[in-house]
Amino acid sequence: MINSHAHLDFDDMNAIAENAVAIVPSIGKQNWIDVQMYPYFAFGIHPWLVEIHTQNDLEKLEYLVKCNNPVAIGECGLDYVKDIDKDKQIHFFTSQLKLAEKYNLPVAIHAVKATEDVIFLLKKYPKVKGEIHGFSGSEEQAQLLTRMGFYLGFGLQITNQKSTKIRQIAKNCPLEFILIETDDHPNPDDLTLVAQEISNLKQIPVESVITQCDNNAISLFGLK
Ligand SMILES: [Zn+2]
Repeated sequence: MINSHAHLDFDDMNAIAENAVAIVPSIGKQNWIDVQMYPYFAFGIHPWLVEIHTQNDLEKLEYLVKCNNPVAIGECGLDYVKDIDKDKQIHFFTSQLKLAEKYNLPVAIHAVKATEDVIFLLKKYPKVKGEIHGFSGSEEQAQLLTRMGFYLGFGLQITNQKSTKIRQIAKNCPLEFILIETDDHPNPDDLTLVAQEISNLKQIPVESVITQCDNNAISLFGLK
């Protein structure tokens, strides 16, 4: 089973790191080295951390991408809940979309209360494909993104009965566009819980969910 987004290099992630095949995104220059311990890693600058990064760091990022075969650019994106300069977030996100286009890599996107702007920017780079991890947008945005060929990542949030909106979106989203993930949660059983919940919501066998989500990750990230 493939975990499409897990920060295995964070503290306390040992249990999950030992038994997971995962895409390990980076958050910025502080873990560009650490993520390379894992077979499938991504290089990027997280929107929460743009203020500690410079233009020079973007150049370093490109150098690393060129030399080290990441499976994706990320984690990048926009987060409008955090009090972080929007223009700076947009500059770093756009720069990383350009990198993805130039090196023909998918993007792992963080979008919180910013899905509209993320879609607006993605439309400027139609060759770039990727996933919106921990999807939290609307039903309409989910449909638009999948029509654009983007995958939606769902995590533990869908197991919360109170998250009615996101559960409905997961239920309606075609399985061909779903990825499962645990993000920064350290419990190794969580990924199974997410797959099981999608199986319940869609009324299909959990094995079918796992097989299709694995194939989605393999195809998006070009896993061997
Ligand atoms: Zn993340």
